[in-house]
Amino acid sequence: MSRPIQVLINPAAIAGNYQRIKALAPQSRAYAVVKANGYGHGLERVVTALPDADGFALLEFGRAIALREAGVRQPILMLEGVFSPDELLLASQHDLTVAVHEERALVWLETRSLPKPVHIYLKLNTGMNRLGFVAETAPAVVARLRACANVASITLMTHFATADDPERGIASQLARFDAAAEGLGLPMTLANSAATFDYPEVHRDWVRPGVALYGASPFAHRSAASLGLVAAMTLKSEIIGVQTIHPGDSVGYGATFSATETMRIGIVACGYADGYPRHAPTGTPVIVAGERTRLLGRVSMDMLAVDLSHLSQAQIGSPVELWGKSLPIDEVAAMADTIGYELMCAVAARVPVKTI
Ligand SMILES: *Cc1c(COP(=O)(O)O)cnc(C)c1O
Repeated sequence: MSRPIQVLINPAAIAGNYQRIKALAPQSRAYAVVKANGYGHGLERVVTALPDADGFALLEFGRAIALREAGVRQPILMLEGVFSPDELLLASQHDLTVAVHEERALVWLETRSLPKPVHIYLKLNTGMNRLGFVAETAPAVVARLRACANVASITLMTHFATADDPERGIASQLARFDAAAEGLGLPMTLANSAATFDYPEVHRDWVRPGVALYGASPFAHRSAASLGLVAAMTLKSEIIGVQTIHPGDSVGYGATFSATETMRIGIVACGYADGYPRHAPTGTPVIVAGERTRLLGRVSMDMLAVDLSHLSQAQIGSPVELWGKSLPIDEVAAMADTIGYELMCAVAARVPVKTI
């Protein structure tokens, strides 16, 4: 018997979440965004769960080529484009669709010889100010792409900074995008998960859901369940030690939690080296033997402590859920001042993965 921590991945939940998104945007095709190893769920596992996805989107060429070699036929969109002329050649050879977001890549397209033309997503900066050509330059850049023999097709793309924030919304970015795209007659993709839920007017030709596929919420104040999403990842472990502590006794490094009464605590085999957030404070929810309880004191590298005072049956070997099916990852993330996205991506390589 080894250390009892495990991450369970439920492919049926991923498939159901994809269907949920397709039902929201029935006129659009949907890229399943599988960057960062499928948001920590395992790229191959996610792709296998979505045999009928319209397309996949990620960043790493090696992984995209592995998908082609495994027989994936759908469009594969390289979200950050190419980092060298060699990658442009690989895109051509393996039929990978590439985002073009800066002059250097455009010049490679114009000047290199490629075995086959490449499908291009022209990324426009409409206010996120991360990647992309200034939106207003779109007509000029499109004219260059249209003149380029290496270009098989052009789709316009942008990415929203505040689609998850109803106060800020997408209006100014959308207005810039639509003005830039006017009259070009090109297909378009704008929506991440949040925009797919809240702004049907930006579904357009392709939506690009990421976090929603995995059953977490893109919104700070709306639960995944309220969006009709089901958690695909469950991080579970077991109680491996039990202590009785008395008033004035403290728990863990820094002695940040002190008992005011006699209490039973459980030690869980899960720590920050497993990907559990070290900044989760006392009070963060944890499920022990099916009952909700709370984290106590500081999370250490390999262990954390939980309150068993009201869980008299809990003992060594009792099952613990850190997040997942019974405890939304977004709740744990909010307590630790982060987002579900980060926790999913941070599950450590040492945690064994089981597909359920
Ligand atoms: C990551 C990413 C997405 C998916 O975003 P979610 O918020 O996870 O839905 C969509 N588009 C681009 C360009 C991205 O980088």
